[in-house]
Amino acid sequence: MIIFLAKIMLIDGSRIRVNTYNPRLAKAEEHYIRGSIYDASGNLLAYTEVESDGTKTRVYPFGEAYAHVTGYSLRSKTCLELALNEKLLSSDRFTDQLEYLFGGDDILGNNAILTIDGGLQQKAYDLLSSVHGAVVISEPSTGKILALVSTPSYDPNTVSENWEDLTNREDSPLYSRAMQGQYPPGSTFKIITALAAFRHGDLRNYVYDCTGDVEIGHTILPCYNSTAHGEQDIYDAFANSCNTYFATLGIQVGGKDLRSTAESLYLNDRIDFALPQSMSRVTVSDADNEQMIAETAIGQGQNQITPFSMNMIASVIANQGMLYAPYIVDRIENTDGKTVEKYLPSLYDRNVLTQEEAEYMEGLMEGVVSRGTAYMLSDLPCTVYGKTGTAQVTEGDDTEPHSWFTGYTKTNGEADLAITVMIENGAESYPALPVVYELLSYYYNR
Ligand SMILES: [Zn+2]
Repeated sequence: MIIFLAKIMLIDGSRIRVNTYNPRLAKAEEHYIRGSIYDASGNLLAYTEVESDGTKTRVYPFGEAYAHVTGYSLRSKTCLELALNEKLLSSDRFTDQLEYLFGGDDILGNNAILTIDGGLQQKAYDLLSSVHGAVVISEPSTGKILALVSTPSYDPNTVSENWEDLTNREDSPLYSRAMQGQYPPGSTFKIITALAAFRHGDLRNYVYDCTGDVEIGHTILPCYNSTAHGEQDIYDAFANSCNTYFATLGIQVGGKDLRSTAESLYLNDRIDFALPQSMSRVTVSDADNEQMIAETAIGQGQNQITPFSMNMIASVIANQGMLYAPYIVDRIENTDGKTVEKYLPSLYDRNVLTQEEAEYMEGLMEGVVSRGTAYMLSDLPCTVYGKTGTAQVTEGDDTEPHSWFTGYTKTNGEADLAITVMIENGAESYPALPVVYELLSYYYNR
């Protein structure tokens, strides 16, 4: 009898599997104790508590800080609770399955260990808890996601009780701004305009005398606070985030090349990832008028970019033009702690940028920190490269612009982190830069 059962189970892959879309899911969950989810250092992020009467409750010890990573597991499931459903409801321990068949005990499901750096995640959540925004931090040399935060958040422990409120709230706490928020990128888009100009060759030495604003078509595009930057080459203009320079440069690059450069960086595209994501969109074309092309070149117009995509671009530059596919699950372990599935870094595109392009972009992003708009990041125990952005919001002129930073850090010439922070309507009241400073101080000084 045992041999017969063993044979069937081995042929079936020696596990009792549950598919997310399997109608027997609820039935199977009755017989499993859903596996736990841990951060990279072994902190419990989600586990199932079983009471003496057999009632199972899913517990999320860190509440709101991880809501957009773990998601929740009720009748419906979201985020990693959904993506890992089958793994958390299967066991690789053969003895578990025999015990279950003969003794009727519930089976302990496999556990998932994430790439998330718990300290960094909590710090990012704390810094954003009073505003609406997103933080994405990753490791450029592997693609590991170290922190992924979206606020306002929600407590996955009480989703059921608060369902009415959570789904009706205007500030949409269930929605992940890091993965799904499509925002005008503001001046962080100058990364793409500068790269497009570099690829043009003859525009590399473009110089423009900034008088604080420029009239294009029927609109006047000002520099921030109408500052007249004077004569600017690309290094000055990138460091100072000079709008008149980039608007006039963008027109010469043209809509078609702006768009193809954006697409070469995986905008208008989606890379496989465990969490749901929105596509970043850059729709400019040669058919657009000069005003639209100029606005696109400085990150206004119809660009819509997610913090997740923006961070991928920073990570490519940090990694000499190579893109590692972002990933957030490090491994699956059985209840004995044995690894049953390991996720390894995967080189997704070896040549997003040439070495020369990556070095050129790094030079521009270095100036932003050493003498430009992100100067406050110049006294950290690492070298920071980046780009700031202030993105006008179309609805209502008195709405405060969004505040962006995207970039990366190096120590001893090696890339450590790619980091992107976006604060909705935070340009004056809660800008992204001090948040980046706090996160990096924490990371390098802990
Ligand atoms: Zn200017």
